[in-house]
Amino acid sequence: MALIVQKFGGTSVGSIEKIKAVASRVLESHRAGNRMIVVLSAMSGETDRLIGMAHEMQHIPDPRELDALVSTGEQVTVSLFAMAVKAAGGDAVSLLGDQVAIHTDQMHTRARIDSIDAARIQHFLDQGKIVTVAGFQGVTDSGDITTLGRGGSDTTAVALAAALKADACEIFTDVEGVFTTDPGICDKARKIDFISYDEMLELASLGAKVLDIRAVSMAKRFKVPVHVRSTFTHTVGTWVVGEEKIMESMLVSGITYSKKEARITIKKVPDQPGIAAKIFLPISDAGILVDMIIQNAHDGGFTDMTFTVPKDDYARAMEILNKVAKELHAESVTGDQDIAKVSIVGVGMRNYAGIASTMFQIMSKEGINMMMVTTSEIKVSAVIAAKYTELAVRALHDAFALDKDNLPQEED
Ligand code: ADP
Ligand code: ASP
Ligand code: MG
Repeated sequence: MALIVQKFGGTSVGSIEKIKAVASRVLESHRAGNRMIVVLSAMSGETDRLIGMAHEMQHIPDPRELDALVSTGEQVTVSLFAMAVKAAGGDAVSLLGDQVAIHTDQMHTRARIDSIDAARIQHFLDQGKIVTVAGFQGVTDSGDITTLGRGGSDTTAVALAAALKADACEIFTDVEGVFTTDPGICDKARKIDFISYDEMLELASLGAKVLDIRAVSMAKRFKVPVHVRSTFTHTVGTWVVGEEKIMESMLVSGITYSKKEARITIKKVPDQPGIAAKIFLPISDAGILVDMIIQNAHDGGFTDMTFTVPKDDYARAMEILNKVAKELHAESVTGDQDIAKVSIVGVGMRNYAGIASTMFQIMSKEGINMMMVTTSEIKVSAVIAAKYTELAVRALHDAFALDKDNLPQEED
């Protein structure tokens, strides 16, 4: 008897009808003799709605209360799902993060899972029940509700699969798998059959929200093969597995974009040792992740510092930086939230020159200005105005021929 963890995202449980359909799909697997753990997200749009209400209450919502609020979205779907299973003649029980219990650290709104008690889930599975677990949430040692960051239900699913040594972890969503770019904005996007953990980590970290980055790193760490597939069809999706299981790597495996970052510039600070630390320490102390950083020196011993932070942390970052700017006698702090980061990713790029310059040529041909650029062994990212995102993604997808195999050519 196999133990299967299945996770259904927000669009898959976005209405009563859809929850009923998910229940009958899960029952099919259960009746085929499998033990089933089902992780659910909140109904689509619900988490955003709750966060919106919090912002109407408080400019920067209290993190503990925000977690208590947003975790309710998943409470609704798991309990409705359990009822749907019972109505269809099966048996199910819903568990919230603290009922499982899924223990996390104290970092509200982006908590990390420390451990999972498997006993309660095991007990219900032994009774033949389908166990449905609220995604995205956990509990601290002191009993406070935490959430795992946006898209965190994927992480709940992989963590449960690892903790209970499940035979399979299936992530059901509104597309048929992981594509060469977001199929929502590019018709030519192509489904990838197998992708390595490392490549998926890179795609996820650069904006391919189909799988949460923490879920991928946990899957890699505990060697959990993950199958990303559609809720609405029975087609085979994408397998996310170890690199050793993949025969060949594409030169460029995907194009990603993220509109979740904002750009901040602190102007005319002294160009001397220690300044970067003075700017970035208070930001990292506040748990804000800085991504790209560019320093532009002026004549006369001054420099501008430009960097990106998650949009969700923008207000807090600006508050901190305005204080720092005063201490450093900086000229100004300015911000821009209408930006997007577009990236090309591929482990096949490691040994090939010219990928970045091709990207720059395409952007120039389309008349898109790149405000910031960063490169690593397996990616090139550019920050552009948000309104050009779709244009940039489609042009790059065409230029690198991602609708076809683009295996690196053998060099003589
Ligand atoms: P869920 O609610 O099921 O968790 P998400 O909205 O988090 O679903 O993720 C699925 C969405 O991710 C798709 O609808 C698609 O628009 C988007 N997406 C972005 N990049 C990719 C990609 N490379 N492959 C597949 N989907 C992608
Ligand atoms: N409901 C949460 C979110 O919207 C978690 C998830 O869907 O994975 O981010
Ligand atoms: Mg998701």
